[in-house]
Amino acid sequence: MPSICQLPTSVINKIAAGEVIERPASVVKELLENSLDAGATRIDVVVEKGGADLIRITDNGCGISADQLTLAVASHATSKIADADDLFRVHTLGFRGEALASIAEISRLLLRSRPADCEAGAELEVVGGRHEPIRPVGCPTGTSVEVRQLFFNTPVRHKYMRTTQTEMGHLTEAVCRLALAHPCVHFSLTHGGRLIHDLPPTDDPRDRIAALCGSQIAESLIAIDSEDDQIRLHGYVANPTHSRGNNRMQYLFLNGRHIRDRSLQHALGEAYRGLLLTGRYPVCFLHLEIAPELVDVNVHPTKLEVRFQDGGRIYSQLLGSLRSKFLSTDLVARGSVPGAATDSEDEIAAATPQTSELFDWAKRQLNDPKPESGNTWSGGTGQIPPYRPVEPLQMHTVAPPTGATFPPADGATNRVDPVVGESATPAPHFAPSALQIHNRYLVVENEEGLEVIDQHALHERILYESLRDKVLSGSIESQRLLVPEPVDLAASEAAAVLENRELLSQLGVAVEPFGGETVLVSAYPAMLSNFSPHEVLQGLIEGLQTEGKQPSPRDLLDELMHMIACKAAVKYGDSLTPEEVDALLAQRHLAQDHHHCPHGRPTALVFTREQLDRQFKRV
Ligand code: ADP
Ligand code: MG
Repeated sequence: MPSICQLPTSVINKIAAGEVIERPASVVKELLENSLDAGATRIDVVVEKGGADLIRITDNGCGISADQLTLAVASHATSKIADADDLFRVHTLGFRGEALASIAEISRLLLRSRPADCEAGAELEVVGGRHEPIRPVGCPTGTSVEVRQLFFNTPVRHKYMRTTQTEMGHLTEAVCRLALAHPCVHFSLTHGGRLIHDLPPTDDPRDRIAALCGSQIAESLIAIDSEDDQIRLHGYVANPTHSRGNNRMQYLFLNGRHIRDRSLQHALGEAYRGLLLTGRYPVCFLHLEIAPELVDVNVHPTKLEVRFQDGGRIYSQLLGSLRSKFLSTDLVARGSVPGAATDSEDEIAAATPQTSELFDWAKRQLNDPKPESGNTWSGGTGQIPPYRPVEPLQMHTVAPPTGATFPPADGATNRVDPVVGESATPAPHFAPSALQIHNRYLVVENEEGLEVIDQHALHERILYESLRDKVLSGSIESQRLLVPEPVDLAASEAAAVLENRELLSQLGVAVEPFGGETVLVSAYPAMLSNFSPHEVLQGLIEGLQTEGKQPSPRDLLDELMHMIACKAAVKYGDSLTPEEVDALLAQRHLAQDHHHCPHGRPTALVFTREQLDRQFKRV
């Protein structure tokens, strides 16, 4: 039978170090947190060889008196909590009393400190857990912690250290996170004698974001601030044009602490749904301030993860604040379209804000006495409702390839585009009509140049938003069938449909069980009247039967609205009459975000005249 024995302190400390100190960046995080807890307003970080050789953090905080130095590096010794109840009202970043002891166990640590009310400072050196005698030393107010030769006595950990560059990447990120959380504190980071960051204190967090993440992101920020009696959410999110291929630029802070929280990241993704392409992630710098009693920070050794008492409420507040902010914000910005066949500098801009003015103008040109009345999507036909006819489309032939005679002999059929050809008579500006090409795209002249619109994506967006408004206000137009139609389904499909009857009724779909695997459809959305009840149901079932995780009713509803909008919209490949083209364009301003389809793809690309001029070597 094995015998049980108490482990020596040094082994306990090494085990603790194994949990908390994974790499040099972990040391930096712990020491920075200590400096912030000490009320420092300036913190300087100096490292050598990615932190493997040296990490020195100097602060101007409250300091530690000589007689407390030994306690500071003792395990489970802290000035931040005194009893178990305190664990539920932690106001500081640290509280476990383990960091200095752990670090001192696995490195050569020199702790030097002087509180403001002491004439002289004192220093304590600990080598691999072995204390040297405390010595008096002259030093400024505050604390300096020097960590040399990290992992020198834990060869396995030492072996796992990566290249200087990799370790420096992690270490810089650790500094970044705390510097973003505390813009009022001056931070500096020096590596190998080179100053990497010098971040003066600022009242405007955007200055800090600009310094650390670049001015492009900083300029695209949308401010968020919402508060209820217990939770305050504030900070910034970036315009959807500044998305990332991973979620690393999603900075969430809880009471000054950087955290990762899958649920809040999900809320963020939801808020941007339809604004970003699949696989793109929003950028954010958001702070949550919550009474410490409402959150447990003692669930993870490095406190990266926390447990909220009422996670659902925070989820809703985050999602709700962002959604309402987006509704009142013009989210359009220029962005280049990757893969577009243009010179690298020749950006194709996404649709611009002027376009909605253009279509207001277009509407006036149509001489409709009540411009708003005719263009609300009424549904019912599955076609774009006819709009007042306009002048026949002016078709312009593009200049023929070299070899053909130009100008063509038959001037009547082949007219030079009056806008492109500078010598031609200027056309009336911003002709409201558009040219449909390849039964897919609508080409429109606008103030800036030329716009190419994806007919399906635009129509889908308009229908989706209109549907969403109607579903939310409970005013969806549903078409009742004179004779309810039985639809035969597979057993699992019938079960999915009947389980979600409530949800389907919100979408205007009325279903009842009819025995066995048959369901009766007695009504479905007017918008889908071109489809049979069977087709409609089949489409919706795809959304209802998701693999794995059960989506929330809200997600499901959204998914189904996407499907309906997609089904009801004109297709890629549908030929449209000029009237239909005009009707579609005239409805464009009805969509809050007519720049992206509900899946986040752009609905239009703008080629500015300047770009065209450049490409044709006219400038
Ligand atoms: P914790 O931060 O969880 O309390 P640490 O091991 O990190 O544990 O630090 C132990 C104690 O040493 C702290 O509670 C604090 O009183 C003191 N201390 C550590 N670093 C500093 C510092 N930079 N300035 C002032 N006091 C410090
Ligand atoms: Mg600490």
